[in-house]
Amino acid sequence: MANRNPFEIAQAQLDRAAKLLNLEPGVHAMLREPMRELHVSLPVKMDDGTTKVFKGFRVQYNDARGPNKGGIRFHPDETIDTVRALAAWMTWKCAIVDIPLGGGKGGVVCNPKEMSQRELEQLSRAYIDAVGRILGPEKDIPAPDVYTNPQTMAWMMDEFSKLRGYYCPGVITGKPLELGGSEGRGDATARGGMYTLREAAKFLDIDLSKATVAIQGFGNAGSFAAILAEEMFGSKIVAVSDSRGGIFNPDGFSAKAVLDHKNKTGSVIGFPGTKPVSNEELLELDVDVLLPSALENVITGENASRIKAKIIGELANGPTTPEADDILYKNNRFVIPDFLCNAGGVTVSYFEWVQNITGDYWEEEYVHERLDKKMTKAFHDTLTVSLERKVDMRTAAYMVAIQRVAEAMKLRGWV
Ligand code: NAD
Repeated sequence: MANRNPFEIAQAQLDRAAKLLNLEPGVHAMLREPMRELHVSLPVKMDDGTTKVFKGFRVQYNDARGPNKGGIRFHPDETIDTVRALAAWMTWKCAIVDIPLGGGKGGVVCNPKEMSQRELEQLSRAYIDAVGRILGPEKDIPAPDVYTNPQTMAWMMDEFSKLRGYYCPGVITGKPLELGGSEGRGDATARGGMYTLREAAKFLDIDLSKATVAIQGFGNAGSFAAILAEEMFGSKIVAVSDSRGGIFNPDGFSAKAVLDHKNKTGSVIGFPGTKPVSNEELLELDVDVLLPSALENVITGENASRIKAKIIGELANGPTTPEADDILYKNNRFVIPDFLCNAGGVTVSYFEWVQNITGDYWEEEYVHERLDKKMTKAFHDTLTVSLERKVDMRTAAYMVAIQRVAEAMKLRGWV
């Protein structure tokens, strides 16, 4: 599974939903492939005086509902098929939260860990010089992804503004606040996930103030989720982990104190008053809520039958394999699927773009309020289809999203 071509997986997921939706063959065929992709060579003068040429991509998967949207990843193992798959998933993610954007994704094959800041800046600018012609606030709006960050976005926005000849913050999101970034972007993914968790708990009649929570991964998504679950619901965080291992205390611990410990020591492990737990054991703990917030393919056909959590909120992308999905559904484990659960990030990115193009900047509370509305509606749109069609939440989310994109293509007269 881990080695399967990610784009073939994305196409197989589409095929399954297309069958349930009875999609016309032409609509289905159009949704199976990206609408446009650009492959570029990026020459960069390195610090040692040599010129190195990097390979870069931008895939615009489908813009029937609005300009394309999706991050730019800098990674040594980047492939065009990974970028295509991620661009497809962005299309469905924007559609499920019903924001007027399509799906895109970009990537550069490089190893940022071996590059200086100057080299990274040159590479970021070279990417925009090569790809800028198909980007723009009205065409395609990138964002950060793996190994790119607000500084990368600032360089890219600057380069694009130079090409256009005027300040153009709406071309890219995830920028620093000083350059038109949005309030509330930092914890948006986790916060959006918490709104869907709240709705799932209401539906299942679970009192989150008495619930126990285990979280795999304690980075941006996982650590904010732990803090927010405590703050918003009073839930008890009993286990968290990172790449070095996990910690467990059935009586709970303070997520903020664990974050301080991690910031000081580099890991959650060794936090006072907790027992060590492996990343595999953490998934199988007897808790009410499990939040996989790190890696893909961690809940599999092998361990799914031992998952005890009543709700699994997928803050990570792709933590559950299709084999595991079937087992979880049969065992009445309620899954909030990744592209719904973690859509808070792109939703606040959309808010950033809206603020940039209108010049009207919002306060944090307003961002939270709007995010809550979007996530809550997306959750219930999905739940309704899941109950009506008797399918799991992931299949239902695909059905809702794909239907919306298909409808837009039909109305525009494309298919
Ligand atoms: P991050 O790099 O901030 O954190 C990742 C965490 O996972 C770290 O705590 C790391 O130690 C841990 N980790 C790494 N290897 C592990 C392993 N083998 N076992 C357990 N933990 C391990 O990344 P992030 O931004 O929090 O992203 C996490 C997941 O959430 C990814 O799947 C990402 O695609 C998804 N996601 C993030 C956002 C966002 O806005 N940050 C948005 C959508 C989806």
